[in-house]
Amino acid sequence: MSDTVDTAAPAGPLAAIFGGTFDPIHYGHIKPAVALARLVGLERITLLPNNVPPHRPQPEASAQQRLTMVQLAIADMAGNLFDIDDRELRRDNPSWTVETFETLRRERGVDAPLGFIIGQDSLLTLPQWHRGLELLDTCHLLVCARPGYGGKMATPALQAWLESRLTQDVRQLHRRPAGLIYLAPTPELSISASLIRERRHAGLRCNDMLSPSVQRYIDEQGLYR
Ligand code: ATP
Repeated sequence: MSDTVDTAAPAGPLAAIFGGTFDPIHYGHIKPAVALARLVGLERITLLPNNVPPHRPQPEASAQQRLTMVQLAIADMAGNLFDIDDRELRRDNPSWTVETFETLRRERGVDAPLGFIIGQDSLLTLPQWHRGLELLDTCHLLVCARPGYGGKMATPALQAWLESRLTQDVRQLHRRPAGLIYLAPTPELSISASLIRERRHAGLRCNDMLSPSVQRYIDEQGLYR
């Protein structure tokens, strides 16, 4: 394995899925994802808003409002790096992430390199996800840095699992369809959807945390009051 990040010509097109509740979508999602795309040569990032199961705390915004905010956020971006997959929101029954990726793998074919973008906080909780570690059978994990999580330790079992799959050689992400973990040196932004909701509840502005049309939509819809 190489010790350096190699951004030389990729061996195959690499696409990525970025799932989230997006309640609301913010710059802490978008800016690291754009930086990641440059680092690994991503062709396309598909934003996939999650359907939240009834037994979990529900988002404040409706599924339609969350989807609209994702649409507005990508309309504010230059280029066509991002698109949207709203399959989870169109479903009555929430599905597990691993099942969504098994479907995506069937749709895209066994050889297509596919990444799943997550933040470092999500990486540490992966063993608690339903069949979380099996996700690597269907995709690579592309992990964005998140403030406060860089030094956080995984359990010894998770650490051993991670180390056997880590790569710093981005060409491998293009050469294999799935199975690798790449820790991306993306910019760290202290932004979270919960911080935005808390600030809104307190009557504070969040202008530098969200794209302008998402901010306007939140105001118009009276969200997170
Ligand atoms: P909440 O504060 O409500 O928990 P969130 O801001 O973490 O929400 P989600 O929609 O739950 O946003 O996150 C989707 C994905 O984006 C997760 O993998 C999460 O780790 C990642 N993510 C969110 N914010 C950041 C950030 N500032 N930097 C890096 N990754 C992030």
